[in-house]
Amino acid sequence: MREPEFRLAPPDLGRWRQGNTRTEGVWQFQSAEPGPRVTITALIHGNELCGAWAVSQLLAVLEGGTKLRRGRLTLALCNLRAFERFDAAQPHASRFVEEDLNRQWSPDRLASGSSLERRRAAELKPWLEDADFLLDLHSMHEEGSALLLTGMQPRHVDFVRALGVAGTVIVDPGHAEGRRLRDFGPFGSDAGDARSVLIECGYHGDPDSRLVAQDAVHRLLALTEVMDVQDLPPQWRLDRPPAQWSLEVTDAIVAETLDFRFAFTPTDLQVIERKGTVIGHEQGREIVTPYDDCVLVMPSLRQLRPGVTVVRLARRRSMKAATA
Ligand SMILES: [Zn+2]
Repeated sequence: MREPEFRLAPPDLGRWRQGNTRTEGVWQFQSAEPGPRVTITALIHGNELCGAWAVSQLLAVLEGGTKLRRGRLTLALCNLRAFERFDAAQPHASRFVEEDLNRQWSPDRLASGSSLERRRAAELKPWLEDADFLLDLHSMHEEGSALLLTGMQPRHVDFVRALGVAGTVIVDPGHAEGRRLRDFGPFGSDAGDARSVLIECGYHGDPDSRLVAQDAVHRLLALTEVMDVQDLPPQWRLDRPPAQWSLEVTDAIVAETLDFRFAFTPTDLQVIERKGTVIGHEQGREIVTPYDDCVLVMPSLRQLRPGVTVVRLARRRSMKAATA
């Protein structure tokens, strides 16, 4: 299948790589006024440039002398080693160096130290684990509008509704391959009130993905009031209708072998009307939709290998019903 054109240049992270904490790429700003602890993460995947753009521009505002209004703000450029390898001619090759940084957030993997990404996750953990709000900025393999991925607890969906970013909200239980940052520690816990969202801002190479990331940052800072948004470039805020739908992910289709094939070229958020429709084949086995109006979420057409989630299946719910 044709690769979409990659039109977003990587930002020059220059001085922002270093951080102002003891950990490379991690910046922390504290107000004397009490308030929420807000964290924004970018480059969990090294080829997802939109978040690196938004975070580096926010750092330029803060390092220009703008002060927080209250609370604490942590900004993390997460997989710098992978980002350093970014090449627009092979934009998928720099997703990670040794393994996916967004599958390493369970206690056993954080403690293991067995790969570059596991060691980096352990380094980042102390800076990320005590946030009240986490915004994790990503982009996607395929072209499509923004997706807001939250955990199963209703507080996350409430947070995303309050944030008001345009896109489709997807409520999903996580990855069989390993725990994501979004679900780690307090964020995945049924107790407490730590809220998190992972935003897929569009296709990796689409310049609009950067606009979506900036909008999400602007809205988060407005919602939590850790910064006066008058101090941010006004064009960051996009005037788009907020999410109308949430999708509850019921199944993840995982390729068991290299033999997996889709029955047609699926598109993101494609609705399959009839229960029992064949969507793929693997080693003579048919993969069918389990219910009517089944939504295909983020079909992955490029990274086939055993153990990879090739598509998720979801039911549609209105945003009102999602929190009921
Ligand atoms: Zn990502």
